[in-house]
Amino acid sequence: MATAEQRREQLVELYKEVRKCERCPLYATRTQAVFGAGNANADLMFVGEAPGQQEDLQGIPFVGRAGQLLNELLAENGLARDDVFIANVLKSRPPGNRDPQPDEIAACEPYLSRQVELIEPTIICTLGNFSTKLLTGSQTGISRVHGVPQVQRLGKRTVKIFPIYHPAAGLRTPSVKEILREDFKKLPALLAEGPPPQEDAAPPSTDLAPPADPEPPEHIQTNLF
Ligand code: URA
Repeated sequence: MATAEQRREQLVELYKEVRKCERCPLYATRTQAVFGAGNANADLMFVGEAPGQQEDLQGIPFVGRAGQLLNELLAENGLARDDVFIANVLKSRPPGNRDPQPDEIAACEPYLSRQVELIEPTIICTLGNFSTKLLTGSQTGISRVHGVPQVQRLGKRTVKIFPIYHPAAGLRTPSVKEILREDFKKLPALLAEGPPPQEDAAPPSTDLAPPADPEPPEHIQTNLF
């Protein structure tokens, strides 16, 4: 079993790989890939949709208006960004913030799986339809599944998926913001419950090849996690 420090080191290697990723055409239009940020050993992980303009410029997830609402909701529930890990389904910004396309989601999905495998969260809070559908493996939309945890096997881990509305939807519609706020309040109690029972460990993932040439350290944003 890898230690937290070993898992963090592997997450750094994955980060270097994602920064260079050209698996889908979005690499050509992005400023930079947005890997994710926060606590590399977090019990609680958030998964949004894709970087927007600010995220693409800064290389950090959820730094625009939706991110401000996410920060507020975290603070209201006694949590800070450093307590959690925040990632997205897509690591590159779709031009004009259009919806992620199925081929882009498929190309990026192994990175998210590996992030989950390395961070070992207890709860994955999916923000909106794209991450909810991807991680629950169901086409049922967020309006029907929000606020109720689902126990799911993801790779080697059994986790609780907790779908909630995307903060951007909350910004657009005040009633959705209230639902989001109510759902968010359930997180501390869910966290206190601890992890769901784990099945026997499966063999290590072979989804990703080991990273190629290491990148020079000066190109690495070291304060992300
Ligand atoms: N919306 C997302 O889904 N992700 C971000 O990082 C920012 C906005």
